[in-house]
This record gives sequence, C-alpha cells and structure tokens, in this order.
Amino acid sequence: MTSAKNNKDFTNELDTNPTNVEPKKLTLESRFKFKCHPVISCFTACCGNINIILTPYDILRIRRFLNISADEFLLRFATPLYLEKTDLPGVKLNLDENGRCPFVSDKGCTVYEYRPTTCRYYPIGMANFHEGGEDETVAEQFFFKVNEPHCRGHEEDREWTVREWRIDQGIDKSDDMNREWMELVMRRKSYGFQAQISEPAKKIFFMASTDLDKFRDFVRSPGFKDTYDIDDSTIDAACADDISMLKFSYRYLAATLFGADGINVRADKVKTKLVEMKNKQEEMEKNAEKTHRELRRDFDELKKARKDKAKT
Ligand code: SF4
Ligand code: SF4
Repeated sequence: MTSAKNNKDFTNELDTNPTNVEPKKLTLESRFKFKCHPVISCFTACCGNINIILTPYDILRIRRFLNISADEFLLRFATPLYLEKTDLPGVKLNLDENGRCPFVSDKGCTVYEYRPTTCRYYPIGMANFHEGGEDETVAEQFFFKVNEPHCRGHEEDREWTVREWRIDQGIDKSDDMNREWMELVMRRKSYGFQAQISEPAKKIFFMASTDLDKFRDFVRSPGFKDTYDIDDSTIDAACADDISMLKFSYRYLAATLFGADGINVRADKVKTKLVEMKNKQEEMEKNAEKTHRELRRDFDELKKARKDKAKT
C-alpha cells in the first residue's frame, strides 16, 4: 500500500507518480525533515487534485463525526471505483468543482481528527509487496518519501523518524483497523482474475466496506443464520459496536472470498448446493447427449440424401 495523497492508488503504486517519490526505501528508523503548520505558505495546497481511496475505517470515522448515514456519506462525498488492479468495488473521496477536497477550508482540514489514513501518512508512503499464492504473509514492507514541489514542509527543520511520524499522526491505529481489509485487496490483486468472484459476493464486499449499518442488518437477518454455521453469541458480539462489526466483516469477507477459516457455510447448505450442482451437471450431460444424437441424425440424413442424389 502506498499512502501518499497525490499518488493514484494505495497499493504498490510507486510507479504512479515516480518523479515525486524519492527513490530510497525507508525503514521505521529512517530520519527525515518535515513540518506542516497553518502559517506555512503552501497551507492546504496538498488538499486538491488528489486521489484518496477510502478504507472502511476512514468512512466509518468521518461519517460518525459528521453524524450522517453511510448512504448520505456515499452520495455526498464518494465515487465508486474498482480497487486498484482488482475487481473489488470500493470508493474514493469526491472532489469539489475546483478539484479540492470537500473537507478543506481556509483554516485547514475540517475533519482533521478523523482524516483518512492516506492524509495521515503524507508525505510518507508505505508499500507492501505481497507475493501471490496461498501464503498470506507480507513479503516485504517499506516506507518512502513523497516530495512534491508545492509542499514546503520539506524545507522545515523538524526531524522525525518514520516511527515517530506514524505515532504523531495516529497512523498505527488506522493501520490496525485497515490491515485485514487491505490484505483482502492485496490477495485479490495477487490472485489476478483467474478465480471468479460472483456479483453477489462483490456487492457484499462493497456493502461491508462502505456501510456497516447495512452489513449489520445482513448479519442479523434470518438468512444469515440459515446459511452460516454461527451461534447467536458470536453474532451478538459482532454486532455490539461498530469496531466489532468492522472486524467481523473482514473475517466474513476473508471466509467467503478466499475460504479462510472461521465462518463456514452450514453442512446441510453445502449438501443442498452439491446436490444442485450434481443435478445441473446431469442435466447438462443429458442435453449434450441429446444434441449429439440430433446432430448424428441430421448428418445421416444428409449422407443418405447425397447418396440418393448420386444414384439419380
Ligand atoms: S481530508 Fe483533510 S487532510 Fe485530507 S485532503 Fe481533505 S482536507 Fe486535506
Ligand atoms: S506543508 Fe505540505 S502537507 Fe503541509 S499544507 Fe503544505 S503542502 Fe500540505
């Protein structure tokens, strides 16, 4: 994941804006100079012409602060898109008609305490290089610095390690809340399009990623318990508060999209599905046989007609 505001996306996009990314891998102990403050000449210059992908936690936090429903948030502040190089649907932050963030004002960020993860990272980015296959471990993680010409913060004397910057900006908490969701996106990306994801599964991914209230209704619905092998206390614990719901949604998506352990389809449902698949296959075989017989008959009739014609 990269988290520089002006980078196009948030996963492995070092090549999106290469001129502004300093070509040096940073660790948590790497040092850099930077300070952003309200009297700096470029104040809020970075809050326009941006492409900020919103994580489920970003959406939850901002809309809770604004005290609006997910529907209203999505309508006013978000645009749907496919998350980088995958077929998983997500959203990015809308910009106003001047290409500015809807939350920026002359005094700065109006949602500062709840600003998206990407805004917290800036001007540092993080990259996870995830190798495909079954292994879920992160192959390599490092940080990098984005140095855009309009940003004067790099000329300030305040020095940080990347670790200190992350603590100061509250990044660790955001990362903790986003991690499992980002791993889902990276896994999908590393699988490529070989494995199909059904349209209903994509819709549930979008719902879980953008609207936890709707996802909660889905989990509370009779159909959910009817389909999954899950007890009431687990459902109650998951629905108890937004953060529990968020974490449960990640587990649910990992199980349904990638077959991860934890939330299994009920055995009787699996049996019904297998019977349905078997019946469908038998029907397809019968149809194939019928088609073959009909073709054979047409071919024989044609052959006979040609022979008859040759005799006359
Ligand atoms: S959310 Fe805040 S920090 Fe992020 S781009 Fe908008 S105004 Fe700037
Ligand atoms: S110093 Fe950089 S991050 Fe701070 S307001 Fe200016 S452009 Fe934005």
